[in-house]
Amino acid sequence: MNRSTRIAALGALAAALSVPVLAQTVKVTPLGGIDGEFCPQDRALVFEDPNGTRILYDPGRIVAGASDPRLGKIDIVLVSHMHGDHVGNAHNKAPNSGSCEQPDVSVPAVPNTSVVEIALAKKSKIVTGSEMPPFFAAKLKANGGDPVNSILARFGGSVTLGGVRIATVTAMHSNGVDPDFIGGELGKAMKEAGIAGDVGLATGYVLRFSNGLVAYLSGDTGIVADQERVVRDYYHAKLAVMNMGDGFTTGPAEAAYVINDLVKPASVIASHANEVGTVNGKVRPGSKTEAFVKAVKVPVHVPLSGKTMEFDAAGICTTGC
Ligand SMILES: [Zn+2]
Repeated sequence: MNRSTRIAALGALAAALSVPVLAQTVKVTPLGGIDGEFCPQDRALVFEDPNGTRILYDPGRIVAGASDPRLGKIDIVLVSHMHGDHVGNAHNKAPNSGSCEQPDVSVPAVPNTSVVEIALAKKSKIVTGSEMPPFFAAKLKANGGDPVNSILARFGGSVTLGGVRIATVTAMHSNGVDPDFIGGELGKAMKEAGIAGDVGLATGYVLRFSNGLVAYLSGDTGIVADQERVVRDYYHAKLAVMNMGDGFTTGPAEAAYVINDLVKPASVIASHANEVGTVNGKVRPGSKTEAFVKAVKVPVHVPLSGKTMEFDAAGICTTGC
């Protein structure tokens, strides 16, 4: 091998070792109410690792159940907490049913939840923190599934599935189990008494993908110091999915503070608007979504249903934003 051949061979080796890893991206596809828009009840995102692992985060009511053709293969379902707009106490008839403002979510999913229906049909693992895993294990078992597919990742610990490391982090919220998910005499008595079931605390997530990208999924939360001390200082999240709809979670101003001063990621995906966030794919003037976009110092990507965004290891959107 002469000198130039050797240099060429070394160059090829370097390219094989490093460039493909740097160039690998995580694909994020919002599954929302109306194609190309950001609608009030939109929650679901599908994350696809460069290795092909596909993770569904909080299907909510807008994924049209297990038969929604947009889902494709789903390896893992992540659930931040038990509220009906996240686990899906009912769901869309089909993608794009109804309007952006008023989706047709007339298909009931109680007592099982849309999460369980999807996990059973797709043979997915359900990953949750806190004390939610036994709830989902019982539901899987009651419907002919295998309870071992409900997997725990409790605060401070993590699980690695399909090459993606999954950890749960603090979300300051509530996490009552609607008696409609419990059913039977117990559920009826609880409903009459006006109390919810207890499966521990709500959670957020930190995901580390195989290309090195670290993403923070806030879940429903207020402002917590852990967003700085844990999500930023320990996990070094570079992409955030931040709930900003106010009332139930941080509003645009509080969510912007979390992003600008606590988490400090390279970019953020707005989530959980509880309003019509876009019209014809453009942020609606006067909306909370607009207030959030204006207040945040890093790029804010609005999750338009069906539009796949790709993020590199540094949290930069390279395609689709
Ligand atoms: Zn909630």
